[in-house]
Amino acid sequence: MTQSAARSVRIPQAVVVKDLADILGVSPVEVIKELMKSGVMATINQVIDFDSAAVVATDLGFNAEEENPLAVPAPPAGAAEDEAPVATSVRVIEEGDDLVTRPPVVTVLGHVDHGKTTLLDTIRKARVAAGEAGGITQHVGAYQATAPDGRPITFIDTPGHEAFSQMRARGAQVTDVAIVVVAANDGVMPQTREAIDHVRAAGVPLVIAMNKMDAENANPDRVKTQLTEVGLVPEEFGGDTVVVPISALKGDGIGELLENVQLVADLQDLKANPNRDAVGVVIESGTDRQRGVVATVLVQTGTLHVGEVILAGLAYGKIKAMEDAAGTRLQQAGPSAAAVVLGLSEVPPAGERFTTFKTEREARREADQRRRDAEAGVAQRAAVTLDSLFGEISRGAVQAFNIVLKVDVQGSLEPVARTLEDLSVDEVNVRVIHASVGSVNESDVQLASASKGVIIAFNTDPEPGAVRLAEGEGVEIRQYKIIYDVVEDVENAVKGLLKPIYEEREDGRIEVRQVFRLGRRAAIAGSYVRDGAINRNSLIRILRRGQVIHESRIGSLKRFNDDVREVTAGFECGIQVDGFQDFEEGDELIAYHMEQMR
Ligand code: GDP
Repeated sequence: MTQSAARSVRIPQAVVVKDLADILGVSPVEVIKELMKSGVMATINQVIDFDSAAVVATDLGFNAEEENPLAVPAPPAGAAEDEAPVATSVRVIEEGDDLVTRPPVVTVLGHVDHGKTTLLDTIRKARVAAGEAGGITQHVGAYQATAPDGRPITFIDTPGHEAFSQMRARGAQVTDVAIVVVAANDGVMPQTREAIDHVRAAGVPLVIAMNKMDAENANPDRVKTQLTEVGLVPEEFGGDTVVVPISALKGDGIGELLENVQLVADLQDLKANPNRDAVGVVIESGTDRQRGVVATVLVQTGTLHVGEVILAGLAYGKIKAMEDAAGTRLQQAGPSAAAVVLGLSEVPPAGERFTTFKTEREARREADQRRRDAEAGVAQRAAVTLDSLFGEISRGAVQAFNIVLKVDVQGSLEPVARTLEDLSVDEVNVRVIHASVGSVNESDVQLASASKGVIIAFNTDPEPGAVRLAEGEGVEIRQYKIIYDVVEDVENAVKGLLKPIYEEREDGRIEVRQVFRLGRRAAIAGSYVRDGAINRNSLIRILRRGQVIHESRIGSLKRFNDDVREVTAGFECGIQVDGFQDFEEGDELIAYHMEQMR
């Protein structure tokens, strides 16, 4: 079984079970088993909907994205007819009483020193219910706070877009709403823009927390203008970006901020099924001298119970104990809950998906298989290079060609970005998802990796850390000095993405006048070229009494005993056709070639 942690796959809105197996590179039985786990009884030819397919994909460690609805192939005719199930009839996972609204999961991003950590600390201290240990909450990577209306909101307690995109690069998109912190006295800064681009690339809605409103030099109007300049028009300017003034230090405006996060989350109608096996993501992990491996996990759907066995990457184990950020012991953790989990065999990396297993033995077997796959190099990189894009797009994995652009001077930013985006064609969208001045940094690599994009560095160099990370993530950094070269390469890559269109062009018509048999295996058609010409590279269609009886390439083309490249009308020749020796006198050959029209 192919187990590569969190590869992105695109799945149609409706997909036949065996096609899903192909997409995921597993056996159909595997898919059927996974479906059964979530209570769906499906046969190999059954059509299931995207949501059911996505659960299977997620359980198998993939990051499922819905394919462009326009590109959805119709399910094969009759495939599901006699078994009668149609897409919606198997949506048990996503319908009925099992589905409940789940709390939103929030990540805090923004420029350094704008107050991300302070904001997370303030919320943790003020809004996390006091624990058994006496109310002192600890930093464990994620916590659940209570909004003014009493509903919970889960916060990922690792600020910054590096963490955000690192998880996304591993295929774990955990964030439902992003809070981008902008200090009112400093305004929109380079990392603010970076953060906004990371969030946009992930397609996650955001709320702006305009922080440090208590500072003397706070200038909220300037911040709002700057936000407008980066395309985030505040509501009071007629746009739809929510901007909430706060002071993380003094605790002002925090209630309003949480209320607004909830409003944005409510629009998304976040649902999960608490009555299934838990699936989620490791947020933070480490070891503790007394407690061994300690991992904070976020449950995305299902409910996790003490005593259950989970597997995250290569780490597995029976959960010995769970607690929340306040140190309160938990027996179970439902959708969107964060829990500190004890009992894993080793430290799983942050961003790794976890799934639930029946027994430790099964989990160990799966872990062993993953280790073997990884050693055998089966785990493929999800990242894209200019050269690999063709394969990606023909498998439907990429529809946009995402570029992270770095340039040396501000003046070339806009023109280069625009020139690149202008290379878009109908089928392939060239998108500059982030453009900024300066050297290529790790954040750029994270963004490119998470968005399956390439980095184009124009007259600028990558930082050593970024080079290392890019190698690890399989992200391509292409450096250029001349705009012409960038354009040419991107143009070629885009062209390569387009499926070529071929048209048939007839070369000539040939008549078989006499057949020479060379033993049982071969025959030469002694022929006469009536019209046009026959070329050594021509394709051949053999007609007998007007019916096509064979199509193939030429095995040999001779005049007398010499191999020739071409024979034109009015001449005789000897033709051997690959895989065919049953010539008869009077057969007609049509020589043709396929011409690439695009
Ligand atoms: P981070 O780098 O974004 O995590 O920023 P920090 O939370 O570490 O904050 C950077 C500095 O700004 C610290 O000295 C904080 O005390 C200060 N700070 C954070 N929030 C506020 C605020 O609301 N008002 C003022 N005046 N200072 C703040």
